[in-house]
Amino acid sequence: MDPIIEIENISFAYEEGEDGEKPEKAIDGLTLSIERGSFVAVTGSNGSGKSTMAKHLNALLLPSEGRVLVDGMDTKDEDKVWEIRRRVGMVFQNPDNQLVSSVAEDDVAFGAENLGIPSEEIRQRVEAALKAVGMYEYRKKGAHLLSGGQKQRIAIAGILAMGPECIVLDEPTAMLDPRGRADLMDILEALNGQGKTIILITHFMEEAARADRIIVMDHGRLALDGTPVQVFSDPERLRELKLELPFTVELAGKLRDAGLDIPQGIIFEEELAKAVCELK
Ligand code: ADP
Ligand code: MG
Repeated sequence: MDPIIEIENISFAYEEGEDGEKPEKAIDGLTLSIERGSFVAVTGSNGSGKSTMAKHLNALLLPSEGRVLVDGMDTKDEDKVWEIRRRVGMVFQNPDNQLVSSVAEDDVAFGAENLGIPSEEIRQRVEAALKAVGMYEYRKKGAHLLSGGQKQRIAIAGILAMGPECIVLDEPTAMLDPRGRADLMDILEALNGQGKTIILITHFMEEAARADRIIVMDHGRLALDGTPVQVFSDPERLRELKLELPFTVELAGKLRDAGLDIPQGIIFEEELAKAVCELK
């Protein structure tokens, strides 16, 4: 294992609210490592600690106990914060909050400019990043002319221009239409194919199914951790965690219950279609 991120027994609680009550820990003794170059989906019900965990990955939050290492650098090391943020880029749910300029390519350049990269290199990086997310033709457009999915692609391009090794996306498709979601997933898979580590927080099980590994969080702890086939093999446990199976997995189970000889471990529509066609 060659981990890019190591989370070692971290806990974190937000400050107490106005009622003065001590809040529960948002992260409660979490340990996990992320393999370099992998595509990991993180899921779990609302309030399970996904966003809080994500913010620990590039020092937006620091653990009150335990530590987080990014390429061996401790996120608590103040001298390393900018290097850590350059290596681990973050994309958030709402594309509107991430774009500040009136022209898309200026938004893409923004992060790289703050890193003090020479302007000729920035120009090249911005061009490459816009092409990687399929938005090069839209480079002169203002955010108000773009769809939600296109804005998210611009936000991802801005992160790419900073040259990260790892991209963390916190429910990036939550506000997108189905087409925008599908396009974004294709882009994430392509980036992963080029070697980027992708950590995708999502509550869409169809998206999680496309990862190498699914991590399920519950009350700030690790509830499940395995391949999609492993995680989807225990519907009871998923229900307890307030999660659903992907539609195809659910349907395969119903067909099995109805007496058809459908093999275990089916996740994608094409696999199910093939299994049905091969029934004797
Ligand atoms: P998720 O992303 O899985 O929905 P979060 O990490 O946002 O979960 O939240 C984990 C817990 O921390 C929840 O109980 C939530 O209410 C609490 N929480 C999240 N953000 C804040 C905040 N800014 N201030 C106080 N409590 C928070
Ligand atoms: Mg969240």
